[in-house]
Amino acid sequence: MNDAILAVDAGSSSVKFGVFALPAARDGELARLVHGQIEGIGVAPRFSAVGAGGETLAQDDVADVATQFDHQAALSHTLDWLVQHLSGQRLAAVGHRIVHGGSLFAEPVRVTPRVLSQLEALVSLAPLHQPHGIAGIRALAERLPDVPQIACFDTAFHRTQPAVAQLFGLPRELSGDGIRRYGFHGLSYQYIASQLPKYLGTDSDGRVIVAHLGNGASLCALRGRRSVASTMGFTALDGLLMGTRCGGLDPGVVLYLIEEKHMTTVQVAELLYERSGLLGVSGLSSDLRVLLASDKPAAAQAIDLFVYRIVRELGSLAAALGGLDALVFTAGIGENSAHIRQRVCEQLGWLGLKLDRAANEVHGPRIGTADSPVSAWVIATNEEQVIARGALDELLRARASPPSGH
Ligand code: AMP
Repeated sequence: MNDAILAVDAGSSSVKFGVFALPAARDGELARLVHGQIEGIGVAPRFSAVGAGGETLAQDDVADVATQFDHQAALSHTLDWLVQHLSGQRLAAVGHRIVHGGSLFAEPVRVTPRVLSQLEALVSLAPLHQPHGIAGIRALAERLPDVPQIACFDTAFHRTQPAVAQLFGLPRELSGDGIRRYGFHGLSYQYIASQLPKYLGTDSDGRVIVAHLGNGASLCALRGRRSVASTMGFTALDGLLMGTRCGGLDPGVVLYLIEEKHMTTVQVAELLYERSGLLGVSGLSSDLRVLLASDKPAAAQAIDLFVYRIVRELGSLAAALGGLDALVFTAGIGENSAHIRQRVCEQLGWLGLKLDRAANEVHGPRIGTADSPVSAWVIATNEEQVIARGALDELLRARASPPSGH
């Protein structure tokens, strides 16, 4: 039997997974044996799995049980499939993506009943995501009671930011209560940071902005491959326009909605998290592909606003870095939409960025011209690799210093 680590990323309507073989290679990377997802949970669930060489191993509708098919059922289905298809592997740990680690967690942590209640206390800070991560932990702990469950946090990577980048202009005692900027998408940024030397060489330790543009979207400014600033703050609402989230908003709008529109806090939360962003502005869809294919003026305006917010926030992060050496695009939109990358890059000429249009059309990886003072790249993210690696590191830490009393 060989040891392996299962990485789980439970989102609002999907569960993504990857199984990684131990031990790690010399560069610290873990070889991925299989990865896949169940998407369409609650609507039309569909399971797919891909092998190490990119071959399709499964692609099945699981729609006949759609009504009861929740996250727990999705994880059970995945585990049953893995037991059948990975008979030579023994799971040494399961790593989970957990969106919010608050002030408490700066590193992956083994889940205990105490940790679980601490994660539950953070649900209101990430209502769209945190409950699914917790549900994933519960489901797998029930099925695999002897396998360590390890939480890996999207906020942890940003703990290196200088104090001033984490502060709101609120009374000091509120910062002490944990009301401050945390930043998210940290597992993705950590992966990109680990890949930068391969692409940028010595520039990788310079001033880099990574644009994680997916259904959720944010930017992160890196120096020395560490986070120094990001567009997301206390919750995953701040910053860029997203699929269904509003991004940066005058807090006075929230007061107005409550006082003048008589909305409850639940209604405001639902508006800002689920009915805003590309969906709210276009009135059509949260999916950029649908908007790009549409001839509705409102769809075009939603895309204009998406690009405008990216360009403005890029300027802000470039100012925080004191200039820019490289820009990296990643995630669903960043990796796949030449159109969005072109529009963003063409508005960054003032920073010295020169786009190589032909390279951009084929998704790079290098999409700036050879003489561009600011280099530009497309690098695919791999959050599951970071989750698996984080789970392994936590296992090794625990083995090196077992808790007292054991
Ligand atoms: P993610 O959350 O990283 O899975 O990204 C989801 C987003 O990526 C959705 O808005 C998709 O419309 C977008 N996306 C995926 N592929 C493409 C593509 N080829 N062109 C434009 N957008 C895309």
